[in-house]
Amino acid sequence: MSGQAIIIGAGVAGLATAVALRDAGWGVTVHDRAKGLAPGGTALGMWPEAMSALERLGVADGIRRHAAHSRGAALLDPRGMIIGRIPPTRSAHLVSRERLLSALLDRLPADAVHWGQPFASSDEFPTYDLVVGADGIHSLVRRRHWGSAVERALGTVAFRGVIDRPTASVSETWGRGALFGVTPMDEGRTNWFACLRRDPVGRSEEPAALLRDAFESWHPGVRAVLAELEGVEIDRRSLFDVRLPHPYARGNVVLIGDAAHAMAPNLGRGACESLIDAVTLARALDTEPEVASALRRYDRARRPATRRIVRTARTLNRIATAERGTRFRDAAVRALLTGSSISA
Ligand SMILES: Cc1cc2nc3c(=O)[nH]c(=O)nc-3n(C[C@H](O)[C@H](O)[C@H](O)COP(=O)(O)OP(=O)(O)OC[C@H]3O[C@@H](n4cnc5c(N)ncnc54)[C@H](O)[C@@H]3O)c2cc1C
Repeated sequence: MSGQAIIIGAGVAGLATAVALRDAGWGVTVHDRAKGLAPGGTALGMWPEAMSALERLGVADGIRRHAAHSRGAALLDPRGMIIGRIPPTRSAHLVSRERLLSALLDRLPADAVHWGQPFASSDEFPTYDLVVGADGIHSLVRRRHWGSAVERALGTVAFRGVIDRPTASVSETWGRGALFGVTPMDEGRTNWFACLRRDPVGRSEEPAALLRDAFESWHPGVRAVLAELEGVEIDRRSLFDVRLPHPYARGNVVLIGDAAHAMAPNLGRGACESLIDAVTLARALDTEPEVASALRRYDRARRPATRRIVRTARTLNRIATAERGTRFRDAAVRALLTGSSISA
């Protein structure tokens, strides 16, 4: 089946859906409130399942060529001692958000995306067969068609940025009420992120100073990044997730990506799941004779799986930034990752 679709939001979810639907024979129009593609952006880790989705979207080779490919990761404590290792069999391609979005945008005709077009809650789209809400965590499409607010504060705040030198491997350091991560990314750069349980607003508004304050006693790998933050753009945001207690589709309106299932970033899965949503939706529309049954099929395929991930990511966010019991936590994680017994 094919028809005409309007997609609200030109992020990873919206652009991936546009490509997948066009490949399935649909006419596609995308509206985004932004004036154009935002330059820069930190790294997104693309897990193997997301690489398969990118394969279907016809952009995997380009992403592979440019991305940093990491295998495994080290989990450290603030002294730099190893808590455990994620085995090298688990690998990810780390690519900048800009490169991923550009690759998807390049697969669309120039007039498919209409920038500077904000969706307003009074907007109706009677001429379209399908309306896709891909407008992110605070989705207006979701609020308009599903009603109640479903964003849940995680009580943590994230910081992230990029510095201009290479890093060989992925590490994440867990301390008391805080974590700090470092990964390679494309073009020989280093991607870093931090998460604090207490929002330090009020102690200092300047994020670099605030991070130096929070992590000054941590191991040299973290301090080396902190020393390079002067003049670096730092993204700072309070974290939320979304738990929608309803199917992801209503009538001919469907939610995709963060609009449906925004999650804590601790598993590095939000963008990956958005790509899987996009190809699953296109496949359902291709298989089913009508939009309503296709959207039911999409919901059955994606809602249980993504809800589980939202729950797990939320739990991991809480564990990784725990303020109490960190010795027991570290021992338990060490045992889990090495198979040895808990000794702390
Ligand atoms: C610190 C951090 C690290 C992360 N790391 C990873 C990672 O390593 N791997 C991974 O897979 N995921 C990661 N994620 C998650 C990932 O960033 C998101 O899941 C992903 O960007 C969601 O894409 P989206 O298209 O659904 O939403 P968005 O990227 O938010 O895009 C929504 C789009 O909709 C537009 N929009 C919003 N409102 C309107 C409106 N009213 N009208 C028109 N347009 C509108 C916006 O301008 C935007 O372009 C991370 C997230 C964070 C916070």
